[in-house]
Amino acid sequence: MVDKPICPTASRGKFLQKLQQREIDVQACFQCGRCSAGCPVAEYFDLSVMAVVRLAAYGEEERLLHSRTIWLCAACETCASRCPNGIEIAGLMDILRELACRKGITAAEPRVAAFHQAFLASVGRWGRVYEMGMIASYKLHSGDLTGDLPLGLRMVARGRLRMLPEPIAERSAVAEIFAGKGREYER
Ligand code: SF4
Ligand code: SF4
Repeated sequence: MVDKPICPTASRGKFLQKLQQREIDVQACFQCGRCSAGCPVAEYFDLSVMAVVRLAAYGEEERLLHSRTIWLCAACETCASRCPNGIEIAGLMDILRELACRKGITAAEPRVAAFHQAFLASVGRWGRVYEMGMIASYKLHSGDLTGDLPLGLRMVARGRLRMLPEPIAERSAVAEIFAGKGREYER
């Protein structure tokens, strides 16, 4: 069970509206626990999957945005496929991660957040991931300068990492998607 909601009504309404816009019906949850039971990384979470859904239904945005769970979710979709009400829980986690970034909340799992931002920045800029740029950004923001260095060098030696970016032809189309998402979250 989770505590009573503490969010002010207006902010709670805005948060629930964002979920509605993405067709994530957290109110449909009847706490059967199938999502939590099937999650392969549940043991690392500070909030169970079903608690995330219940807190979202209460509009407890701040509590969710500070949790480790939203960063540790592997987006495998097992929970959504097991949910009898078809609640798109991986999508909910994604919204929560994005809201945490946009609100400048210090992530409970900073290295995961650094990777998340480096990945999205790379796709937003080049239309696809430019691995070397993404790794450099991740290293700078996470402070993990030497982790996986031998593996990275082996990949470079085998030509598995591109040294220069290879942007897609329709880069502007991807930029528009990113801009649209930004407007959606600011509303
Ligand atoms: S499986 Fe669906 S209905 Fe059951 S607890 Fe999880 S989100 Fe709620
Ligand atoms: S999508 Fe996330 S919360 Fe759902 S089962 Fe996979 S790891 Fe767990």
